[in-house]
Amino acid sequence: MSVRSLTRIDLRRLILLFTLLTALITLVSSLYVVYRVQKRELIDSALQSNRAYATKVASSIGEFLRNSHEHLAYSADLLAGQLQNEGFLKSEAIRLQGQDSSFNSVAIFDATGKVLEASPQNLQIKGRIFHTEGIVQALHGHQPMVSSAFVSEIGNLVIFISQPIVDKGGQYVGAVGGSVYLQKQSVLHTLISSHFNDVSVQVYVVDSSRRLLYHADHNRIGQVLGPDTAVDAVLGGGRGAMESVDAEGTAMLSGYAYVPDSRWGVICAQSRAATLESLGALMGKTAMAIFPVCLIGFTIICWVTQLITRPLRQLAAAASQLDAVDSPEQINSVRAWYIEAAHIRRALSMGVALMQEKLGRLNRQAQSDPMTGLANRRAMDEALRVLQQTGTPFCAMALDIDHFKKVNDTFGHDAGDVALQAIADVLKRCSRDGDLPCRTGGEEFTLLLPNMPKASAIDVAERLRAMVENTRIDQVGSVTISIGVASWIAQGPPVSVVLKQADELLYEAKKKGRNRVEA
Ligand code: GH3
Ligand code: MG
Ligand code: MG
Repeated sequence: MSVRSLTRIDLRRLILLFTLLTALITLVSSLYVVYRVQKRELIDSALQSNRAYATKVASSIGEFLRNSHEHLAYSADLLAGQLQNEGFLKSEAIRLQGQDSSFNSVAIFDATGKVLEASPQNLQIKGRIFHTEGIVQALHGHQPMVSSAFVSEIGNLVIFISQPIVDKGGQYVGAVGGSVYLQKQSVLHTLISSHFNDVSVQVYVVDSSRRLLYHADHNRIGQVLGPDTAVDAVLGGGRGAMESVDAEGTAMLSGYAYVPDSRWGVICAQSRAATLESLGALMGKTAMAIFPVCLIGFTIICWVTQLITRPLRQLAAAASQLDAVDSPEQINSVRAWYIEAAHIRRALSMGVALMQEKLGRLNRQAQSDPMTGLANRRAMDEALRVLQQTGTPFCAMALDIDHFKKVNDTFGHDAGDVALQAIADVLKRCSRDGDLPCRTGGEEFTLLLPNMPKASAIDVAERLRAMVENTRIDQVGSVTISIGVASWIAQGPPVSVVLKQADELLYEAKKKGRNRVEA
């Protein structure tokens, strides 16, 4: 921007521009801060609730597993001496499944892995020896177990919860356990879904080998998960929340909790992008709420700017035309309500007064005769012009000192000057306001008498003549004057003719013996 165009911007626009710019920057940064805070808030609350969900599910699963082990342990105690008692085995298997409806099936094995009894009866597995992974784990461990997920002999994806059966001598004689379906409706599904009704949150459970034991999408159950940072975290043990990346590479907000009894991980996760979707609408609402406040702020800024700049604008306008007649009034009418404006106003006012006083002095000097202080010929011409223009009738007197040369010759030039000043004083004293006594030549004077009838003017002339005659002048004594009186009216001959007439009448007075008035 060039300096030229900069100077065209006025103070009000400048202040307005900068104030609005500042306000805008503040507003945008505030909105940005609100955006950041809201975003953090949304993320944090999602993480927190997911963590709480995961913890709840994990503790429910843990509790379920402990209960199951307790029931199985009680049953194993009962079965320890009764493995040959078919009737007892059958009733125990039925009781166990009936008591603990969480098991989809119950089986009692001997030490070789042969099924001694199973419930429900329609499974038809009695007498078979199982080689499936989960069962082998359960039998060989000789301890309370929760197996990995495995596909059972009849094709269901299950986990197997078991207790060893040990006889009185401490000898391992078999195992009793129950299976829980993973894909079909089971206690696991009930446990997990009872905590969840938020469709945007996915909950999934993995075992220590990252196999999905539960997922809302049942078709995925049994899959081994790829890289998922939440799974990595949960299998490390403990619980927490984190911004994770799932197996599909989607950014997620995950809460997780570990189930120590089974070394499983529970993860509750929701898509980060979907969670933040509401942020746009929220910011829109915030902006709409701020809008009226901004409008009020804008109006206040405009008003205050106007208030601050008005005195300076008015002073600047006055300063640009200091030669105007009403300049002092214009400056004094400015309401300078703050100190800087008041100082400028005072300085400007003083400057104008000083300038006008100087101009007036120069004007007066240019229009007056320095020795007598009377108007000079220029001032008289100006006055005649005004009288003619306004059509004001007037009388003009031409005055001349008699034998003045002799005064000079007798008493000296300085004494002559004193006499000139004395006569000028008499002229001033005899003039009304509005009359104009002028020194038009060396010892010649003219007196203009606006709106005075000729007869009155002759009286004035006569009085003037007498006063001069009777005035004592230092060193000189006294002098006399001769006067010619003429009058002008708008309809008559021009002003110049009337002045000439007055001169001719003066000449006539001289001829007729001096010290007299001719009209
Ligand atoms: P008249 O009665 O015919 O007017 O006789 P006069 O001697 O006055 O004759 P005139 O008017 O011609 O004389 C003018 C004299 O006025 C000449 C000059 O010496 C004198 N004079 C003009 N200006 C001044 C001045 O400023 N100071 C003095 N002391 N004398 C002046
Ligand atoms: Mg003369
Ligand atoms: Mg003379």
